[in-house]
Amino acid sequence: MTTPLPVVRTVANLRAQVRSWRQAGLNVGFVPTMGALHEGHLSLVRLARTKADRVVASIFVNPTQFAPHEDFEAYPRDEAGDMAQLASAGCDLLFSPTVDEMYPAGAATTVTVEGITASMDGIARPTHFAGVATVVTKLLNQCAPDVAVFGQKDFQQLQVIRRLVRDLDIPVEIVGAPTARADDGLALSSRNAYLSADERKVAVRLNEVLRDAVDRVRRGEPVEATETHAIADLQAAGFSKVDYVETRTPEDLARLGPGPIAGPFRILAAAHIGRTRLIDNMGD
Ligand code: AMP
Repeated sequence: MTTPLPVVRTVANLRAQVRSWRQAGLNVGFVPTMGALHEGHLSLVRLARTKADRVVASIFVNPTQFAPHEDFEAYPRDEAGDMAQLASAGCDLLFSPTVDEMYPAGAATTVTVEGITASMDGIARPTHFAGVATVVTKLLNQCAPDVAVFGQKDFQQLQVIRRLVRDLDIPVEIVGAPTARADDGLALSSRNAYLSADERKVAVRLNEVLRDAVDRVRRGEPVEATETHAIADLQAAGFSKVDYVETRTPEDLARLGPGPIAGPFRILAAAHIGRTRLIDNMGD
């Protein structure tokens, strides 16, 4: 039996625990999440374990990164189940604050990252990245870890976080972890729980279409035609709306194409099946 996972719900208690580890000469890894954990989140915890003596995970469904019409209320929540999984993955402490603890009355500061937030999910979800950047800045300040691990599954988010850490001189190493996938290749996501059995069959096409698009670009086919082809494939597969399929440089997320390209690239996509929005990305 794994020992129950200690949990702190206030910034003061989080800081006290991290301080005592530091005084004992231990370094600290951090894995922020919104809960409803799956193997993807646990792979982040295990990666953090290889890089730090102690690992803190947070669970906070951050209201400021959801637009009013999005799924904040419906977002799956299962703290007891999450805690058991975190303990078995080698997590040492859960930080699970309330909304009031994170945003006390009068909170008036927002972190915005320009440039790389101006495309893709930044267009489809215009307020999303300011919410993410603000909460991640706060979490990094609260926990003050040596290393923080984020998933490449949310590739644009990962680059936004790398940028804000650099621009704001936050003393932490950001590590990007590979995307954990189901056996058929679907990227694991808490939102996959929304999918019906029929929608789940459509969902698998997202990673297949991306894989095909990556092969085409690697073979030297023109970028724009490849993206158009991929969008048509997703629509034909049953996706009700495709927000984007875009080929970008891996770090700055600068547009590539329209013709053939050489060198590293990442293809990012977002598409809806009914009320569920899925994202994925692949590349070198
Ligand atoms: P979330 O709970 O969806 O906010 O995700 C918390 C962290 O887990 C983020 O850094 C995500 O990028 C990461 N993550 C989510 N899904 C996966 C996955 N399938 N593989 C790897 N990391 C993931």
